[in-house]
Amino acid sequence: MNRRLLAFLALTILLLGAGCVESVERRTAMPTPTEPPEATTAAEEARFATQRRIMVETQIRARGVTDEAVLAVMAKVPRHRFISRELWGKAYGDHPLPIGEGQTISQPYIVALMTQHLRIRPGDRVLEIGTGSGYQAAVLAELTDQVYTIEIIDVLAKRAAERLTELGYRKVHTKIGDGYFGWEEYAPFDAIIVTAAPDHVPQPLVRQLKDGGRLVIPVGPLGSYQTLWLIEKKGDQLISTNLGDVIFVPLQRGR
Ligand code: SAH
Repeated sequence: MNRRLLAFLALTILLLGAGCVESVERRTAMPTPTEPPEATTAAEEARFATQRRIMVETQIRARGVTDEAVLAVMAKVPRHRFISRELWGKAYGDHPLPIGEGQTISQPYIVALMTQHLRIRPGDRVLEIGTGSGYQAAVLAELTDQVYTIEIIDVLAKRAAERLTELGYRKVHTKIGDGYFGWEEYAPFDAIIVTAAPDHVPQPLVRQLKDGGRLVIPVGPLGSYQTLWLIEKKGDQLISTNLGDVIFVPLQRGR
């Protein structure tokens, strides 16, 4: 090959390369009108990812959550996408946030703590009562592909179902209804998580737990602190462990 041909080839490769880089930049800088309203730039997403890592270290690991799989999921799931855009700046703060209809998405630490105590393995069948924003369901869906979630307020249930699909959590089964009665059709479950507080443990949920299954549930009187319980079914025995005081919205009945 002579020198002139080599120089020509090198220049062509250089120009093609530059063309590629330019088109990638253009794509990220100018979102097309068909993208959903929640679309963010790569730089914004990178900032949120950094905030998530800080959240995991300072709010969750620092308070004693040790399960690395749970910590990794908390660092991965985009919590901001489950709340309205005006609140995105607060998405990774150490507090619950409003999600409409007088309901809230739980504090990240509580989500992680409850998830850790469910001890989910891939393939486990998990039921959540109180879908709310869908955030906790997404966290569960990162740990197993069998997630079932029930929400009593239909607008929240519909919004959460849409959001879960949009974010790629297509396998989560959602339902509008009173979670007090569980989801008989898919019982028994390896784990059940209740994210609204009843004043007693619903017996249908205990019945729908597998032998060896785990139920994590806040229980307490309306308008007060509740106790978070881990209830494990071992044969015909129930072993309850007090996980501390929490504040949840009440479990509603008969809407
Ligand atoms: N897990 C949710 C937050 C839950 S807030 C999240 O990650 O965003 C508690 C939710 O429980 C509320 O959305 C409330 O409407 C719902 N809820 C209350 N009582 C219920 C019931 N009996 N059955 C199902 N959902 C209920």
